[in-house]
Amino acid sequence: YPACSKLLVLCTLSSGGLVAYSESQTDVSNTSVEINAKDCKKRRVVVLGTGWAGISFLKDVDVSAYDVQVISPRNYFAFTPLLPSVTCGTVEARSIVEPVRNIIKKRNGEIKFFEAECIKIDAANKKILCRSTFDNNLVGNEEFSLEYDYLVIAVGAQVNTFNTPGVVENCHFLKEVEDAQKIRRSVIDCFEKAVLPGLSEEEQRINLHFVIVGGGPTGVEFAAELHDYVQEDLVNLYPTVKDLVKITVIQSGDHILNMFDERISSFAEQKFSRDGIEVQTGCRVISVSDKEITMKLKSKEEICSIPHGLVVWSTGVETRPVVKDFMGQIGQGSRRVLATDEWLRVKGCADVYALGDCATINQRKVMEDIAAIFKAADKDNSGALTVKEFQDVVDDILERYPQVEHYLKSKHLSDVTDLLKDPEGNARDEVDIGGFKLALSHVDSQMKNLPATAQQVAAQQGAYLSKCFNHRQQCEDNPEGPRRFKGSGRHQFHPFRYKHLGQFAPLGGEQTAAELPGDWVSIGHSTQWLWYSVYASKQVSWRTRVLVVSDWTRRFIFGRDSSRI
Ligand code: FAD
Repeated sequence: YPACSKLLVLCTLSSGGLVAYSESQTDVSNTSVEINAKDCKKRRVVVLGTGWAGISFLKDVDVSAYDVQVISPRNYFAFTPLLPSVTCGTVEARSIVEPVRNIIKKRNGEIKFFEAECIKIDAANKKILCRSTFDNNLVGNEEFSLEYDYLVIAVGAQVNTFNTPGVVENCHFLKEVEDAQKIRRSVIDCFEKAVLPGLSEEEQRINLHFVIVGGGPTGVEFAAELHDYVQEDLVNLYPTVKDLVKITVIQSGDHILNMFDERISSFAEQKFSRDGIEVQTGCRVISVSDKEITMKLKSKEEICSIPHGLVVWSTGVETRPVVKDFMGQIGQGSRRVLATDEWLRVKGCADVYALGDCATINQRKVMEDIAAIFKAADKDNSGALTVKEFQDVVDDILERYPQVEHYLKSKHLSDVTDLLKDPEGNARDEVDIGGFKLALSHVDSQMKNLPATAQQVAAQQGAYLSKCFNHRQQCEDNPEGPRRFKGSGRHQFHPFRYKHLGQFAPLGGEQTAAELPGDWVSIGHSTQWLWYSVYASKQVSWRTRVLVVSDWTRRFIFGRDSSRI
């Protein structure tokens, strides 16, 4: 690419659109020092985040066509599905991370990376404001801004505490690599404290009571990992307290793993019961102190407290503040996640794309919202809606959640529209709400293929968007060419379609459950081997693949390392 290489030199010589920022400034538009890349012909793409979505975009985007800059407070990519294994030392933290610089090196070093956090998106001026993650900057400004032609938001989501008092102060989270490392140290601390002289048996029991709040995949996997760690390694190292260890999972719903097939959920409950892991369902935690966790039992409306040695909070995620602020600016303030169209373009904001958890629809939340829309429409609580009201409700749902159109337009929409007719096929005046709910529940089960938060969705979106970017120039040069699928004003590419490849739920004792495409469920030891193969193959580099496999082998031979380092 001789012409492109000239452009590259130009871009490299210019500062790539970097704008120096004074510390006190908060208004992105009032930039003091601007070193702009005006000469640069390449369009500037700024990518926020180096998680599943961001990295999968960066791996494929054509760096000869775009000037790509990446901002993230983490200079590495973390393979999140193996984070629960890090909490117990089954794999080491460094084995599941890949430095962003290694990924950039593979792209001929043409991507610029800044270790910083985006704190404001100014879509009107096509700028973002960033703050470096270093406290004591000896050189340069703490805050700086970048201009973009296209912005790719892939900042993921943050832990949701539901503002429960005491959670931030007294609970561990399991979201980042640092969280997993902290848990690993704290588990060992609990055991070391329990064997100190002078403790009563009751005090030892409390120190060794591990509570997990949240019976979703992460909470369940951590409970299973911890159980294996205790039974396979720690009971031999701390024989005097081996019978005092207790693991409790607190779940607000009626079952753990309720987003999985019922067969998996009930297998997990039975296995946990056999393993002595207590599962308390129908409990909502209302506060956590350093000594106990207080919860409300839904069925009896009773409040009870249990003492703990360590609590891991794993109840889901919410939107990050920078995204919330941006949503407020573009009129999406009342939404839970960024609304995009099927081409991943943020609605109402030109040249901004959103991928991964910050824009992914959450099945449970969608169903809650749909139920709320429905309840609001049934003003007189009659249990029926007029046909007009009913159609408005469906329109409203599609307006808010265009992503579900694909599902609503599937055969299940005919289930819904069938409700508009009586058995003889005549149009009804009113629609029975019970039937409507039933039809929606079919849609709900269909939407199981649209997981709440998932690396697969994020990675597929990143790969899809890089393809769109790579073909953009081709489409612009050849507007009537074969890649144009829609009329003018519409995007030139096929909409994004998520391909569900199945999901795993490791349950400990070398057993895993898997929900595979086509409603297939597989549970047991052989599925654990499938899990090993899939996660070994999914590693982003050969380096991490070798490290992860050697960690698994080391654990089989020598057990897990229990040093507190
Ligand atoms: P992330 O991967 O979270 O990446 C977000 C990126 O944005 C990070 O690099 C972050 O540093 C960066 N960032 C954050 N704030 C800013 C900012 N202000 N400015 C710039 N950058 C920012 N999913 C599955 O499908 N299967 C599993 O088995 C599974 N297991 C999981 C286990 C655990 C413990 C966890 C925590 C999650 C798991 N997930 C799993 C969910 C999966 O990890 C997420 O769905 C996926 O990471 C989402 O990708 P993302 O790119 O949207 O966000």
